Amino acid sequence: MNIKNIIAGPCSVESKEQIEEISKFLSGQGVVYLRGGCFKPRTDPKSFQGLGDIGVKYLYEAAKKYKMKTVTEVMCIDDLKRNYKMIDVIQVGSRNMTNYSLLKEIGKTTAKDKKQILLKRDWCATISEFLKAGEYISQYGNNNIWYCLRGIRTFEQIDSCQRFTADLSSILELKEQKKKVVFDSSHACGRKEFVIPVSKAAVSLGAEMLMIEVCKEPRKAKTDKEQQLDFKEFEKLIKEI
Ligand code: PEP
Ligand code: MN
Repeated sequence: MNIKNIIAGPCSVESKEQIEEISKFLSGQGVVYLRGGCFKPRTDPKSFQGLGDIGVKYLYEAAKKYKMKTVTEVMCIDDLKRNYKMIDVIQVGSRNMTNYSLLKEIGKTTAKDKKQILLKRDWCATISEFLKAGEYISQYGNNNIWYCLRGIRTFEQIDSCQRFTADLSSILELKEQKKKVVFDSSHACGRKEFVIPVSKAAVSLGAEMLMIEVCKEPRKAKTDKEQQLDFKEFEKLIKEI
């Protein structure tokens, strides 16, 4: 896989210095798409919720410094409107795949410039529900949608050590529908040890892109510390893929 097709970066933007250091490393590897969450959809309301608008600014500045593009999630249309110029790829998270009002607003807002959207599959959605969610956006004219598989929840999660079940064969189904597929191995597995082998499988099944969480010191990360690769592990991934 061409390194330009890997979206990489931390789960959350935590500080200006943190995102700058990561973007410096990733751009040195040839990565173009820099991810980083600023509006975080956390299960626990008392946990870190992201830096918000200032986080988008840090992400944008770090990306521009190294000629990269920004990928970040918006949770409501105001998040997008306030930060529109700083977001190159608009991420709709798994939890918002069925937020039809948001999908419609994003569709209308991007109808003219056709800004790139990354739509994540709701972990409880069927493939046709996922495709229909995309139509909520594309009906207004923006068909630039990457369909991101990020693991689904199955009975396996009763006692599995994996956060979700990697929906690998769904890649084949989305390809049949001529969709551009991104596979997010980090959230699908929830464990860094599994990220490289599952990414290999995704690529061999035809995923055009990967999304990988990377930061300098995963153990100290404020979110998703179990699944983020450190710099060395990311180098190993790109060597093997
Ligand atoms: C993310 O990519 O930061 C994220 C929160 O993922 P998901 O919506 O797939 O849980
Ligand atoms: Mn994450």
